[in-house]
Amino acid sequence: MSQKDWLQAKLKENVELSRLNTLRVSASAQFYVDVTSLDDLCDALAWAQLNEHSTLVLGGGSNLVFAGKFSGLVMRMQIAGRCWEQVDETGATLVLGAGENWHDSVLYAAGAGYRGIENLALIPGTAGAAPVQNIGAYGVELCDTLVSVTALDRESNEVVCLENADCDFAYRNSLFKRWPGRYIITAIRLRLSRQKPLQLGYQDLKEYLGDAAARDLAALTVAEAVMAVRHRKLPDPAILPNVGSFFKNPVVTREKFQGLQAEYPDVVGYPHSGTVKLAAAWLIDQSGWKGYRNARVGVHNRQALVLINHSCGTGQDVLELASDIRQSVQKRFGVELEVEPGIVGG
Ligand SMILES: Cc1cc2nc3c(=O)[nH]c(=O)nc-3n(C[C@H](O)[C@H](O)[C@H](O)COP(=O)(O)OP(=O)(O)OC[C@H]3O[C@@H](n4cnc5c(N)ncnc54)[C@H](O)[C@@H]3O)c2cc1C
Repeated sequence: MSQKDWLQAKLKENVELSRLNTLRVSASAQFYVDVTSLDDLCDALAWAQLNEHSTLVLGGGSNLVFAGKFSGLVMRMQIAGRCWEQVDETGATLVLGAGENWHDSVLYAAGAGYRGIENLALIPGTAGAAPVQNIGAYGVELCDTLVSVTALDRESNEVVCLENADCDFAYRNSLFKRWPGRYIITAIRLRLSRQKPLQLGYQDLKEYLGDAAARDLAALTVAEAVMAVRHRKLPDPAILPNVGSFFKNPVVTREKFQGLQAEYPDVVGYPHSGTVKLAAAWLIDQSGWKGYRNARVGVHNRQALVLINHSCGTGQDVLELASDIRQSVQKRFGVELEVEPGIVGG
């Protein structure tokens, strides 16, 4: 298809994004395109470059706050495809197109008897966005199984394969987050196992599974347990629009933690490579925010890390609330909270 035909067929103008982000905030994209192949992606990028428009890759919109109009081209990643490679008696490699739904892919892998990503069930969004913040839950992170990422490198304009070690993974962080816009992920490869021990150490999971936790469970049973626990604890964005955890758990020195413990004996923290990871939810709760709400936005009444768009709130409303929370936590505990989702526009 020529660039002109492609433009006519695919490019849309002034597209409302409220249905394309889980916070359901209203925002518009000056230009918008659905990307279903590498060719689409290259055409979209060429058009944006020619017309000097900035670009944004959008997956499921579950880790983004739209603070206003996006002046430029939004490329919604919808490259599909799932296949198995290197299947042997120990495991198999699952290849996912970047537009595949992450949760469906977890159920697909666990249903086929493969272990490794079952604890990441019910995390919204696409497979292509999963490496961006190295998604994690219930003691498992994507980097534990990720073999490689296929991406378009916008510096060299080439399709590259980045191995796990190249991705610079850390807690809710990666090369892709540190270098926004450089790599557009088109596929990911995960090495899954038939025998790997299941990760059932998290208290909530242990409690839910009870005696069953001691048995050799199917990966799908664990995925279902994770889903049940998450349903109990986390608001469904289809009912209470949110982007999951709004803040990262802050990492502090052991000395800082001891100082906090002296003043607040029940402060919650976990050892983290020579430092201590504090529970941001505890800090926010103790600062009096849990269950807070104003006319439009608020803090979830069971999970203080989750900010909710109750009624036609804007991205700015949510960011103002986040800023107030950060200030009060800083004032009370001397701890800086870092916002987890990306902020666009405004
Ligand atoms: C209810 C709820 C629960 C959640 N629970 C968790 C959790 O337990 N653990 C966790 O880690 N996260 C969690 N999240 C956050 C979120 O689901 C993940 O970060 C998810 O990976 C985001 O995927 P997405 O497709 O929606 O990405 P988007 O929100 O669309 O995009 C996120 C970022 O990734 C970039 N991006 C998207 N696709 C690509 C691509 N193909 N190539 C390059 N860059 C890309 C975007 O430009 C943006 O910067 C939760 C969110 C919600 C709403």
